[in-house]
Amino acid sequence: MSFADLGLIPELLRAVTETGYTTPTPIQQQAIPVVLAGNDMMGGAQTGTGKTAGFTLPLLQRLARHASTSTSPARHPVRALILAPTRELAMQVFESVKTYSKYVPLRSTCIYGGVDMKPQIQDLRNGVEIVVATPGRLLDHVQQKTIQLGQVEMLVLDEADRMLDMGFIPDIRRILDLLPAARQSLLFSATFSDEIKKLADQMLKEPQLIEV
Ligand code: AMP
Repeated sequence: MSFADLGLIPELLRAVTETGYTTPTPIQQQAIPVVLAGNDMMGGAQTGTGKTAGFTLPLLQRLARHASTSTSPARHPVRALILAPTRELAMQVFESVKTYSKYVPLRSTCIYGGVDMKPQIQDLRNGVEIVVATPGRLLDHVQQKTIQLGQVEMLVLDEADRMLDMGFIPDIRRILDLLPAARQSLLFSATFSDEIKKLADQMLKEPQLIEV
């Protein structure tokens, strides 16, 4: 089994090859076709399993189908939102997004708290298709109207169990209310408590379950 067997486009295969990966991990083998097909997904996976590439690669491929090459910021609305519980994790995911999107015309940025909002606002003004964010700072931008989420097509909630532990679920629910109902959503969690299942019920439509 190779990355090419999973149906990834040449632009993504090239980026993957440059990272030195040759064989997709089990979660990548399972998740990539499911996400490419446009399904919602609930993934049970710890960090270290390769889950980040497992959702980032098919997300980029879905967005690349209708990528804009225009230089106008208005032509680059936020189309994918990836939520992570901590700044460190958000930055890690953002690094993956940057690495794998090297050969596709998609722009991305990372938004987290504890730092000046101005550079983040500038990135958002320039137009980005992909936003990796922590929930609190994202809501700050929503409140200040420096981000619009009305055109989001894809949502990823990474490490949902840690979001729960950190008390972010009310913030997540607030964010869900701002997103179009017609979207593709993915939820990853190392554990599935009743609270996570309830959130998954609200967030996902007929999700495919994947566990590694
Ligand atoms: P993650 O679980 O997404 O945090 O990834 C864990 C580590 O595995 C990261 O350091 C990745 O760079 C690495 N990794 C992800 N996919 C692969 C792969 N297919 N082959 C080798 N290493 C990988």
